Amino acid sequence: MGIGDANIPMKYEDLTLGGHMSTAGGVWNASTRAKEFGFKTFQIFSKNQMQWKARPIPDGEAKKFREEVSGAKQSKLMAHASYLLNLGSAKSELRDKSRDGLFEELRRCDLLAIENLVLHPGSASGTTEKAAIAGIASGISEGLSRTSNASVLIETAAGQGSAVGANFESLAEILDGIGDKGRTGICFDTCHVYASGYDIKDPGHYAETMDRFKSIVGLDRLRAFHLNDTKKGLGSRVDRHEQIGKGMIGIDGILNLLTDERLGGTPFVLETPLGEEGYRMDLEEIKKGLNGDPN
Ligand SMILES: [Zn+2]
Ligand SMILES: [Zn+2]
Repeated sequence: MGIGDANIPMKYEDLTLGGHMSTAGGVWNASTRAKEFGFKTFQIFSKNQMQWKARPIPDGEAKKFREEVSGAKQSKLMAHASYLLNLGSAKSELRDKSRDGLFEELRRCDLLAIENLVLHPGSASGTTEKAAIAGIASGISEGLSRTSNASVLIETAAGQGSAVGANFESLAEILDGIGDKGRTGICFDTCHVYASGYDIKDPGHYAETMDRFKSIVGLDRLRAFHLNDTKKGLGSRVDRHEQIGKGMIGIDGILNLLTDERLGGTPFVLETPLGEEGYRMDLEEIKKGLNGDPN
């Protein structure tokens, strides 16, 4: 059977689904609420994603979080790093701040026993893509060498402005430049990949896209997905998420991934615009799609 063949029977229960969860009221609440959705995994921001400063996580809170997660049998967790980090910046002040920021984010993951830190590669404004990639790889290497557990997952970029990471070649180059290969990987965002010009909607083009990913980056590097539909078209390079089945990729496109048996066990984490208000609708759409119900 080929990939992208939507006829492969795949049970909803076999999928490792999750969503980005709010930490309002205490970081452990993310786990509690994820469990209410039946999620086997989830993602959080471990600090305010729009600020540099981070409130230390008291040991008691971290312990409560770890206990909640283990009680709910959740795994393959992700923390999403701050949007401010730009390890490849040409400005040394921003680069140094970003390196310290990455270290702090990795430290927080280790404290919370979160396996993966998802990182936007950043942008190459004021410099060449090559120089930016070298800075990103060296920054990640340093962060990993200063911590011991969490992996860094580089997120595929939609390609707005001078963003790095909107093609598989640049992602592979970053990975190649990092010393500790065991603690790195890719977080494949379906909205971003589609926006950057890779078709995953048409089954044949989906198969070609994944073959390209396989030969350029390697499927073993594919550690997580951000599962999002998109408001904008193929190659638009615009990052606008949409609820599952309501956008340009559509439920059939999403099912190309969910029924690809090579991706079994990989976490699929929703980052749809309504957040926790919309996840039940997204999950319903996925269930209906897997059952072959007409939409
Ligand atoms: Zn992201
Ligand atoms: Zn996005």
